[in-house]
Formats: sequence, C-alpha cells, structure tokens
Amino acid sequence: MMKINFYDVEHGSCTHIITPNGKHILIDVGSRESKSIVSHLKNTYFRYNYYGQIDQLIITHPHEDHIYDLPALCDKLKPRILHRPQSAFPIVPTQDTQLHREIAKCANDMNNEYNSPVAPENNPLNQANNGGIEIEIITPPSSETTKDDLNTFSNIIIVKYEGYKFILTGDNPKSILQKIMDRNQDNIRQKIAYSTVLLAPHHGRTGEFCEDFFKCINPFLTVVSDKSIVHTTQEETSNVYKGRGAELDGKNRYVLTTRNDGTITFEVAKNSCTVFMNTESY
Ligand SMILES: [Zn+2]
Repeated sequence: MMKINFYDVEHGSCTHIITPNGKHILIDVGSRESKSIVSHLKNTYFRYNYYGQIDQLIITHPHEDHIYDLPALCDKLKPRILHRPQSAFPIVPTQDTQLHREIAKCANDMNNEYNSPVAPENNPLNQANNGGIEIEIITPPSSETTKDDLNTFSNIIIVKYEGYKFILTGDNPKSILQKIMDRNQDNIRQKIAYSTVLLAPHHGRTGEFCEDFFKCINPFLTVVSDKSIVHTTQEETSNVYKGRGAELDGKNRYVLTTRNDGTITFEVAKNSCTVFMNTESY
C-alpha cells in the first residue's frame, strides 16, 4: 500500500509519502508556527528507530512556508537524499531574527552539502527502490526562473501507483504553468491527464489558477494546503478547482482543505484509493 499524508501545517505545505516498502519521502517541510511537524513525524513513524532518516526530501522551492521545519528535520530525521532547484540558492532570511536566519542557513548549508551523485540503487526516484511507486519531477527551465520570485522555481511532481496518479505542486505561477503546457514540456499533457488528486498550486489562490493545467489534470479531488483565509482569492478556490468530484461521507466533494479537513490521508492499493480526513492530529 502507498500512503500519502497532506499535513495540516497551516499556511505552508508538507506532503509525506510512505512507500509499500517502507520508505519515507517528504515533499516540502512547512510547519505550524507553534508545533513542529518533524517532531510529529519522529514520534509517529520513528519512535523505535532512533537513527531513522527520511529517505528523500523534495523541496518544490525554498520559500519559508515550504522549508520552515528544515532545521528540525536536519537535526532529527536528516534526509538521505535531497532534491531541490539548486539555482534558487543561496536564499536570504525573510526577517532578521534568529529563527529566520537559522532556517535560511540550514537550507543553504544543505544545498551545499548534498552534492554527490546518488547511486541508482539508492535513489528513491528509481521505481525499483520504492515498492513500485513511480515519481517524476518536472522542472521549469532556467530561462523562466528568477530569484526575484522564488515561486518561479516550483517544480511539479507526478506520483503514480497502481493506476492512481497524484500531481503535487509548489507555488507555481500561472504564467509558467501555461508555458509548460503550451510547449508540452516533457510530454506533460499525457503525464498529468486524468489524475486522481491534485495538490493545488500556490495554496489554491485563484489568481494563480491555470485553467489549461487544471482541465488536463481533471482530478477527482483537489487538496488545498492552507490555514484560515489570508488571501481573499482563496474564498473562491472551491468554485474554481472543480474536477470530477468524489462522494465522501455522503457528500459530493471537489476540494479538500487542510484548514477544514485537517490532515488528509490517501491510502492506495490495487483497485482502491481510500480517503481519510482529520487524521494524525498533532
Ligand atoms: Zn507556499
């Protein structure tokens, strides 16, 4: 079975894939301000494994809401492998406080440290190493990225298992999504078409809604990782991200939000994909 948790980390984003062969893959490591997601992971999944590590961390882009708990991760569950948009580094602290300096320093140190090539037998992106899950990362070309807006580095991650497909995004600007779609980069149209679940770009802000991208994905459900509405455009998110829909607890749902539904878990096995809400409160 593959399990995917979309953690309720308030405004940020943190997705956790547990592979059928017990590997742990994290996509971004945003956290609540008051509670560490990494402490939760350590207590829940590595309680009896003092030297446990996250097998792989994929950073969509190094904005703070996607790397907030990186220092704790480095300290408690240091990832074996790191994927990140290298040209987005080094980053500068978002504020001149010890906390923010520490986050930026940790991200920059990790970017410098993880430079040796990964042997294929150790790379969790290699399907054979992760119990049959296929993972692909689509990266915007350097001509379209700028350090003036780190969101431009956000990659798109495609996760496939037993015929189910999850599309995970960062804070991808609409204009770049459209360009990737227009040139059908890496044959993206075929790869994302008719997916099971989309993690909405940029926390579901309608200003970044790319209709072409979404219509192609046409998911049963869209997950939005956000907290109480801070951007007014989020009020309209559930009207815009209307895919095929799914009946959950007797209600037709199109969009699930960590704000309302807490941590959202999908369990995927042969011929079944089950959704659980309000899981793993911490
Ligand atoms: Zn973000």
